Amino acid sequence: MDALSYVKNHIDAGHLFHSYIISGSDSQGRLSAAMYIGKTALCREGRGGPCGKCTDCRKVELGIHPDITVVRKAADEKNLTVATMRDVRSRASVMPNEGDRSVFIIEDSDTMNLQAQNAMLKILEEPPEYSMFLLLADNVDRLIPTVRSRCEIITLPHEESYSPCREGIDILSAAVKNSGWELAAAIMAVSKLNRGEILNLITTLRRETARHMAEGTLSEELCENVISACDECEGYMDVNVSAGYVSSRLLAAFFG
Ligand SMILES: [Zn+2]
Repeated sequence: MDALSYVKNHIDAGHLFHSYIISGSDSQGRLSAAMYIGKTALCREGRGGPCGKCTDCRKVELGIHPDITVVRKAADEKNLTVATMRDVRSRASVMPNEGDRSVFIIEDSDTMNLQAQNAMLKILEEPPEYSMFLLLADNVDRLIPTVRSRCEIITLPHEESYSPCREGIDILSAAVKNSGWELAAAIMAVSKLNRGEILNLITTLRRETARHMAEGTLSEELCENVISACDECEGYMDVNVSAGYVSSRLLAAFFG
């Protein structure tokens, strides 16, 4: 099971905690799990999880929601410093901009030195009502027990290395080439995939589309359409949607 599916099963959207530690060896898996929880906290439409369609969900996916802050250590620093954590504390005391919560994702929280961890502890002891803290860690044992005990700990399963789905790569390279017939043929090939292959296709399209959007090789509008088609198809996978449906939904996303 991948990190995202695991966290979807693990959290109760109706009852989110103030603070989580998300532990796991894969940094991308930790971040996507955190983004999912952040999206759940900020979505005002979803029942039992983020809707994936509202303005809040879209902004989280595009990395532009003003109420999600990703805290990282500076490139030239080995540790998250107490100065960084004090900055988080003062920012957390400000009301959210748009949503009902301010979500702070703290990457490599296990690199906080003791002083920084104590600053974090102070925040966790008296968290501002509308704030949420997601501490990402490779090695949770490096966090002091008092920090650990104030967080709900999610331990992600070990993730197999990502092997992109061939059909997904074909679709995006045809889109980049702007070749309509190649694109249509690549999308039609999706209708032959089995359930596992479709899930991998969705993962591949999400990751690779995000990359194309960042690199500017595909238009933002197209990328948004594709990501939203992926969300929708993934939502329907629970009710055993057919490969034919996924294929037609992708046709609409690329040509619609
Ligand atoms: Zn939503």
